[in-house]
Amino acid sequence: LNNTEFRKIAHQVADWIADYWENVEHYPVKSQVKPREIYEALPEEMPANSEDFSAIWQDFQQIILKGITHWQSPNFFAYFPANSSYESLLAEMLTAAMGAQCMIWETSPAAAELEEKMMNWLKKACGLPETWSGVIQDTASSATLCALLSAREKFSDFQINEKGFESFTNFRVYASVQTHSSIEKAVKIAGIGKENFVQVPCDEHFAIRTDLLEKLIEADWQDDKKPLCIVATLGTTSSTAFDDLEKLSEIAQKHHLWLHVDAAYAGTAFLLPEFRHYLKGIEKADSYVFNPHKWMFVNFDCSAYFVKEKEWLIRTFEILPEYLKTQNDSLVNNYRDWGIPLGRRFRALKLWFVMRSWGLRGLQKRLREHIQLAQDLTRKIATHPDFEILAPTTLNLICFRYKPTHITDENLLNTLNEKLLQTLNATGKVYMSHTKLNGKYTLRMVVAQTYVLQKHILNAWQLIQERAEKLQTDYLE
Ligand code: PLP
Repeated sequence: LNNTEFRKIAHQVADWIADYWENVEHYPVKSQVKPREIYEALPEEMPANSEDFSAIWQDFQQIILKGITHWQSPNFFAYFPANSSYESLLAEMLTAAMGAQCMIWETSPAAAELEEKMMNWLKKACGLPETWSGVIQDTASSATLCALLSAREKFSDFQINEKGFESFTNFRVYASVQTHSSIEKAVKIAGIGKENFVQVPCDEHFAIRTDLLEKLIEADWQDDKKPLCIVATLGTTSSTAFDDLEKLSEIAQKHHLWLHVDAAYAGTAFLLPEFRHYLKGIEKADSYVFNPHKWMFVNFDCSAYFVKEKEWLIRTFEILPEYLKTQNDSLVNNYRDWGIPLGRRFRALKLWFVMRSWGLRGLQKRLREHIQLAQDLTRKIATHPDFEILAPTTLNLICFRYKPTHITDENLLNTLNEKLLQTLNATGKVYMSHTKLNGKYTLRMVVAQTYVLQKHILNAWQLIQERAEKLQTDYLE
């Protein structure tokens, strides 16, 4: 393409995007393609000769689009969202247009300085400790790995950095049985070993049993193990349960452990002062992550990672080959030393666009609307004789199941709810996901799409009731 052709097509693409967002609720939310369908529709080899853009565009619409699950649909209620907004999308276009690789300050000073400023805005807006430092990571998984690697280096006096694992094989990492799988992954990658990952049982609200945790840590010290890190979850993936951070921070301090806080999803709620009580004790923690790319209208990927003492992070990751040295190294933040990759995308721009265009009040208003919609639906489900709420709706994730009064067999209820979810998702009208809570197959419905309205929730609830009733007649008779 040349510039003239690009200009023409880019206008068409921008129109297509605007149409897409206007109509996205009418697409089947969950892609209905069969495994390998897209793969088989594509040629075996790249074309030898240039293809016309119109042919590529046609295939995008005919082949690719049907294999897309529409995460920006207001009927998307699955997992946790990866929501976005017009502002974020515009910033992402500009980021791609400039194509800056922001590995060090010098390779784009605006990217480094905007990132520092945006992390400070977020820190203040969410009530995080003022003296902490922030950096954007791609995902919460990477941030948690950074936390474990920093903890490992700190508590080995940087011996592992220098000599490898030799004398440090007994580290222990603690989290609840409800913690996200990324913690176990980080433990594995950090070389700590899966058997040294201690998953502590939860109470009836799915929060970590701090009494058991403390006993386990004490027993490990007695046993010549080396308790290294506690990972607290604020907003678990299954049910948005909150661990008792205040208690965990006391335990971490008393026993000299690193405390990492995973608030990947729920961290956005701390823009609302009424939820900040969950953050009590944060000043005693060492690191904290939340994902604006989940519920803060900033498109994937953008994970905000904060640390109490940036020195541990930098000392863990710092590397300075001759070809990356610059005159300003002592004056600026070179974020290549604050995480794993050298190359970095310009992610701060979309945060800036969103925070300026929405303002704190605008963000708060929309978050409260989401929470209210979820609370209203929770009440409806709870008072329906054939449905049951399975965990408190602390924010905007509803955990529930279909439970007709005459069915008490738990296996049958599990099968019934699994079928219900499949049926619902096959309609293309909604997309929800599931988990298991206390062995019960649980439907998860998250009300957090940027542009979701009450009508989408009411339609979904209507559909759920209809399909559940039909399933009962078809399946049980
Ligand atoms: N932690 C929690 C509590 C999550 O819910 C998730 C994802 O849903 C993650 C971590 C992982 O997030 P990411 O995809 O950014 O690595």
